[in-house]
Amino acid sequence: MSYNWFNQQLLELNDQLIAWRRYLHQHPERSYHEEQTAHFIAQQLEAMGIAYRSGVGGHGIVADILADEHEGAPIVALRADMDALEIQDEKQCEYVSTVPGTMHACGHDGHMATLLAIANVLQRNRDKWRGQVRLLFQPAEEVSPGGAQQMIKDGAIDGVSSIYGVHLWTPIPYGKLAICEGPMMAAVDDFFLTINGKGGHGGMPHTCIDAVVVGAALVQQLQTIVSRHLSPLEPAVVSVGTLQAGQTQNIIADRAIMNGTLRSFSPVVREQIIERVEHITRHVCEMYGASYDLHIRRGYPALNNDLNETERMRAVAIEQFGEASLEVAEKMMPAEDFAYYGQHIPASFMLVGAGNEQEAKYPHHHPMFDFDERAMILAAELLGVTALKALEQKYCEVRVNV
Ligand SMILES: [Zn+2]
Ligand SMILES: [Zn+2]
Repeated sequence: MSYNWFNQQLLELNDQLIAWRRYLHQHPERSYHEEQTAHFIAQQLEAMGIAYRSGVGGHGIVADILADEHEGAPIVALRADMDALEIQDEKQCEYVSTVPGTMHACGHDGHMATLLAIANVLQRNRDKWRGQVRLLFQPAEEVSPGGAQQMIKDGAIDGVSSIYGVHLWTPIPYGKLAICEGPMMAAVDDFFLTINGKGGHGGMPHTCIDAVVVGAALVQQLQTIVSRHLSPLEPAVVSVGTLQAGQTQNIIADRAIMNGTLRSFSPVVREQIIERVEHITRHVCEMYGASYDLHIRRGYPALNNDLNETERMRAVAIEQFGEASLEVAEKMMPAEDFAYYGQHIPASFMLVGAGNEQEAKYPHHHPMFDFDERAMILAAELLGVTALKALEQKYCEVRVNV
């Protein structure tokens, strides 16, 4: 089935798409505070005549677009994240953030605008497709525990057969897209450790337990988790980000505080790393006679792209934009809470190139961050047509089974 009507009408909506994005860019809200953002989304959905549920998983919104023919038909979902970051917008442009210290520096404004454009076209053409498309506007992607888990608990993906998402991505140039099946973005866990030694005179170390020495030994030992314990074929990171101890040169430090981050792709490796951090901490501290307090904060799991749904997205990308547009995504160590949806239903997530040599050359989370706005149309075509094709296939399967 051809979806030229969809692409055509999206193109006609381009000015509106950019206006939505720029409004959202000017009015960013941080994770867990997306109240006005949700209000804006709700207003747009209302104007389109689309039914929605607000307050889902915090400030999340779930909107359902029903084709004329939808009885007993499958539901597929598309997801956009809503939150901005605690960064001062340093760009010079007419749509710069109006909120001091807060900025859409990851492109989530573009994700929301993209979903609104898809909603608009699907809602106006309910006679041209079959089934139900659910839109998830999800709060709090940037800060663990994140909004996805809470939205799932609040029923956002109940009855949904598959879900798709994108990230506009400036490290990839506009016009290119990247995806890989299986794990694409890492699981992230952080650790927070306090080592308790025994302070005293710098000239009398034998009466003390030196927290600096224990901390230094521990930093060394933690390096062996990746280099000596895990399979060399399993990518993982153990980074000690901070180590703070002591006050002055002639006092033995009684306490050291060490924080770090743990990243992995395989769930087995993830558990191995956590177990090794606990094991090494326990034994190194014991060796020196120190006590400790270790807290491991589990973050997002690895983002795992479903094989079939990734193949579907890939096929749509090739059909829409040509074979040359598609790259194999390299696994990345940043995390993404879209991963949680994939733990419940088949899910696939693609990176849509949004970089250029002019305004969009800065990395995500940078005070000068911006993206190539033309990428939003590509993202909308990709997500919209993927949803329509998935519905078409699933609809036929349902009919055959009846
Ligand atoms: Zn981000
Ligand atoms: Zn992001």
